[in-house]
Amino acid sequence: MIFGDYHTHTTYSHGKGSVEDNVRAAISVGLKEIAITDHGLNHRSHGVKRKAFPRFLEEVAALRAKYPEIRIYAGMEANFLSPRGEIDSAPVADKLEVSICGYHKFVKPLRFGDNFSFFARNLLTKNSKKMLVRNTDAYVNAITTNEIDIISHPMHDCKIDLAEVGRAAAEYGTYMELNGKHRDMTADDLVMLASLGCKFIMDSDAHTPDRVGDVACQIEAVKEAGLPFDLIVNWDKLPIFKHISR
Ligand SMILES: [Zn+2]
Ligand SMILES: [Zn+2]
Repeated sequence: MIFGDYHTHTTYSHGKGSVEDNVRAAISVGLKEIAITDHGLNHRSHGVKRKAFPRFLEEVAALRAKYPEIRIYAGMEANFLSPRGEIDSAPVADKLEVSICGYHKFVKPLRFGDNFSFFARNLLTKNSKKMLVRNTDAYVNAITTNEIDIISHPMHDCKIDLAEVGRAAAEYGTYMELNGKHRDMTADDLVMLASLGCKFIMDSDAHTPDRVGDVACQIEAVKEAGLPFDLIVNWDKLPIFKHISR
């Protein structure tokens, strides 16, 4: 079983429950750890409000005292902002204990020419090698220049050279996520990533408290690919996140 769920949303972005609701849900399904990872600051509709972030940290601290039976991590699911590797959790990065990064639509770019989101959304209609390179650069440069623990839902809505991203993730100790909402990687993709030395993490990506800890479809995916469960960093063990080496 998984010992922790490291990708969950609350009302700080567009989840339905509070931080406490997710914590209580995690305890009720027997998890030892949970991360709260609402959307990055530049997301136009779902991003955590910069002003609300200190309140979020205080809330997590209070819940740690109230529920000592579970470890609660303050995290964020950042967005890619440019092919150079900029991500939108940077202003609060030193406060994060679990740092996720994933591709999402409707993100405010840093500069006009950096509209990574626009380019990626147009992949299907204006597909080009250039775009694939641009998207892959955004992932690889983000991994190599930021402290990223987890790449969320790889291949969802954004075409990348998965092997190239996988090589960077393996080298920098970034976990590739097996996501509960978006299952875009094939069994062959998982086998290929494993052969590159990637480690995986199973997360619910719960947007409602009742889904916290639900990784049933990821268990199926791992079995289908024939991957050893040892490669899943939160399976019968606790993962290590990069903030501990700060
Ligand atoms: Zn996401
Ligand atoms: Zn998410």
